Amino acid sequence: MKETKDIIANNLISNGVDNHIRLELLNWYDTITHQNYFSNKEKTLIQQDGLAMGAPSSGLIAEFFLQNLEDTHLKKLLDKHNITAYFRYVDDILIIYDPSHTHIANIQEDFNKLHPNMKFTAETETNNHINFLDITIHKTPTKWITSIYRKPSFTDSIIPYSSNHPPQHKHAAIRYLHNRLNSYRLQQTECKEELDTIHDIMLNNGFPIHTHLPPTPRPPITPSSQRQEKTTQKWAPFTYVGKETTFITNVFKETDIKVTLRANNTLQKLLMPKSQTRDKYNRSGVFKLTCPDCNKAYVGQTGRSFIQRYKEHRSAFRSNKNTSNYAKHALEHSHKFSPIQESMQILQYQDKGAYLNTIEKYYIYKEFSTNNHLNDEANITPNKIFDAVLKLH
Ligand SMILES: [Zn+2]
Repeated sequence: MKETKDIIANNLISNGVDNHIRLELLNWYDTITHQNYFSNKEKTLIQQDGLAMGAPSSGLIAEFFLQNLEDTHLKKLLDKHNITAYFRYVDDILIIYDPSHTHIANIQEDFNKLHPNMKFTAETETNNHINFLDITIHKTPTKWITSIYRKPSFTDSIIPYSSNHPPQHKHAAIRYLHNRLNSYRLQQTECKEELDTIHDIMLNNGFPIHTHLPPTPRPPITPSSQRQEKTTQKWAPFTYVGKETTFITNVFKETDIKVTLRANNTLQKLLMPKSQTRDKYNRSGVFKLTCPDCNKAYVGQTGRSFIQRYKEHRSAFRSNKNTSNYAKHALEHSHKFSPIQESMQILQYQDKGAYLNTIEKYYIYKEFSTNNHLNDEANITPNKIFDAVLKLH
């Protein structure tokens, strides 16, 4: 990481980047590479060297390092070993050489001397075939033939058609396969083979086969310079819980807000150990206090524990303080203030934050629509999304 920082620093200087911008960028580099911690089994760990796996910055930083290595050593190596062609994509390298002049083991040995942290393994062609990235290159006396390559560990699992996911996500997997097929310009036989594979993938995942038409390719991405005018457009992510979600997202059809869907049933959710169940009143979220004498209800939230919040309402009741609508109601009507188990119902668990505020608003809105509430009416305004959600229940 230190070496890469020096590489970047030198590049910034030789490209005449302003001093203060250079220092700022290097500061960012330190922040990104040093705030590299993660949790595992309730322990927080710090990674000592190397880049964070999966961080968007890691690929870019690795590329700085590799390009510098290529700039300084590659030409010498290619000349020494008579290498005809060299292609690299991220950490995969394809080289073409004449085996009568040179030996792969010698090339590999030199590559492995480039840096102590880098270890290359080599694979040579077998039966005139070699795999590079996701294609197989087949050498014939007159030309190269390419076909789609899948690792032996490949399984044809994509999101099953019956799964509760946004249809857009399911179709994206198929469109990706078709787009890849079209961008590689395969020969007829290989193309037909890949189409059959896609057909099988769809079949095995329960996709209706009539959608197996060449999908319309995505429109080309507009260069950012032409996209400027659309800066007013906002994107809003929605969690997809079923096709009913579209009732809500349809509300935005006529607006400038673009809807994007995300799924909640992710592998991470399924695989992460659940935190041990604590006493329900020690958690936070949205609750409802119901008057035992007249059934009127007060909806509230707490970012601390339900029990703490309950005690505050109770203390307002006992000391006749004007801090709780629920206590005020009980006092004014001489209704009972009953124990927590009898009066407080937990509507939803949620940690403190913007989402908690939203679900509180939703439950207040819901209570308001039943005309049975003790909340302040002044804070309740018409809400089309809540109306759409309430229509579902
Ligand atoms: Zn009452």
